[in-house]
Amino acid sequence: LYGPGRPNSKGANLNIRSQYQPLMDAMATHMDTVYEARPLLAFDVASDPAQTHEVTAPYDRRQRVGTVLWTTKTQAEQALDAAWAAFPRWEATPVGERADILRRFADLMEANMAELMALCSREGGKLLTDGVDEIREAVDFCRYYAVRAEELFAEPTRLPGPTGESNELMMGGKGVFAAISPWNFPVAIFCGQMVATAVAGNTVLAKPAEQTSIVAHRVVELLREAGMPRDVVQLLPGDGPTVGSVLTSDPRVTGVVFTGGTDTAQVINRALANRENAALPTLVAETGGMNAMIVDSTALPEQVVADVIHSAFQSAGQRCSALRVLYLQDDVADRVIQILEGAMAELHVGDPRDLGTDVGPVIDEDARRGLQAHIDRLKGEGRLLAETRLDPAHTAEGTFIAPSAFQIDGIDALEREQFGPVLHIVRYKAQDLDRVIESINGRGYGLTFGVHSRNESFAEEIAQKIRVGNVYVNRNIIGAVVGVQPFGGQGFSGTGPKAGGPHYLLRFATEKTVTINT
Ligand code: NAD
Repeated sequence: LYGPGRPNSKGANLNIRSQYQPLMDAMATHMDTVYEARPLLAFDVASDPAQTHEVTAPYDRRQRVGTVLWTTKTQAEQALDAAWAAFPRWEATPVGERADILRRFADLMEANMAELMALCSREGGKLLTDGVDEIREAVDFCRYYAVRAEELFAEPTRLPGPTGESNELMMGGKGVFAAISPWNFPVAIFCGQMVATAVAGNTVLAKPAEQTSIVAHRVVELLREAGMPRDVVQLLPGDGPTVGSVLTSDPRVTGVVFTGGTDTAQVINRALANRENAALPTLVAETGGMNAMIVDSTALPEQVVADVIHSAFQSAGQRCSALRVLYLQDDVADRVIQILEGAMAELHVGDPRDLGTDVGPVIDEDARRGLQAHIDRLKGEGRLLAETRLDPAHTAEGTFIAPSAFQIDGIDALEREQFGPVLHIVRYKAQDLDRVIESINGRGYGLTFGVHSRNESFAEEIAQKIRVGNVYVNRNIIGAVVGVQPFGGQGFSGTGPKAGGPHYLLRFATEKTVTINT
């Protein structure tokens, strides 16, 4: 109960400290570097002070991480010209060669793990443990998609037919893909999109989030070092609507793979639909969640609380899979809330580079302000159940939000996803369970969901009725593993197919049937 699996501030878990020490020492050498990130396009881009943006650390806004040169509209258009021209050559490159680039890239990310983790921490406010998960996931995506691509693309599939006729199903790329990613997994999701679309034979214009473009720049440098041609994957840091409007309005963009907010996905969907003279596009969108967990009277309160803390507050609640609404059956509600209150009092909020920290900062001032307004409103209504104390000595210079838990009447009371460490709790009576499930399904999001119960058939029945992408029983609801828990939602939460799953690459491929009368 001392937070999401990390040592507490009282110096316990010396084991964990010694385990991380070598990595921390390696990271230390990258903590003061001031980076200069820029578009990495098929052609060189000149510096331009008017397009240069400062990046500072979310845990201490006085600390500079570096600068980012944003991509202009004209450069984005020229990058698109290059991507369009490179597509036939790249598609014709044997899939084994494409997959080998991914494998070398994975090796390079592992070799440069300390630097990438340092950047995740400095630019994205990530804890060390989150940084490890992040890089491992990116590496897993590369190796998993490399294997899947070879399985799918290497040889045509022979199909049956009458004597004298041969039928073959061949797989190819689709064209130019825009890969638009969020800041909360600045390496893993950024890489996952980029390598999946590229290994399937497409050329890629990768647009990282404004907040985390420096780590994206370092990642694409490594990708180039691994042998990825510079006109096949290009990096376009910059303002979402500016770069996005080029990527989503040009008829040569065959598809968009997007991860981010539901509202942004809808803007992109409309822009793609409004293009004239464009082939019908592919849109793969992974978006927000309003993830719930149902706890019945047979659940073990201590285990519930450990998993709730993990699910709601790890990564400062800035995971799309994070727990937002906890449904507690009346018989266990008081006990769970009491233990939760104690556990939340023990959480340490502060500098993500410190191993004693459980909860780091939120990404920026806009995020902090939005969350604080939500918290203030619920506090004003007298709904606060528990809150972690913020110590100004550790939080004064950054964008921090104290983890908090509020009682609400139901999921419908939430207008939108609150992307931070805010947990909402609803009490329910056993006879109201069907209504609870209906309201969760009716809210329209469908990403992750949890059940805590020692009654197996109860858990199975709920898992079957709930309409979400990933269901977790008697554990936390975050941290899907590539190839083990393919990840992605439905409804307002996304289009599928699932990232890290066996069908993901198919969405970026064309299938061609060739029939020959022999
Ligand atoms: P966001 O929607 O604000 O931004 C995502 C990306 O879209 C950024 O690169 C941004 O620059 C770009 N963008 C913004 N406007 C655009 C436009 N008009 N055209 C094209 N691109 C545009 O999201 P965010 O704040 O970066 O990320 C947080 C959100 O991402 C949360 O809602 C979270 O739930 C979601 N998310 C979902 C998953 C998932 O797998 N389902 C994973 C991680 C994050």
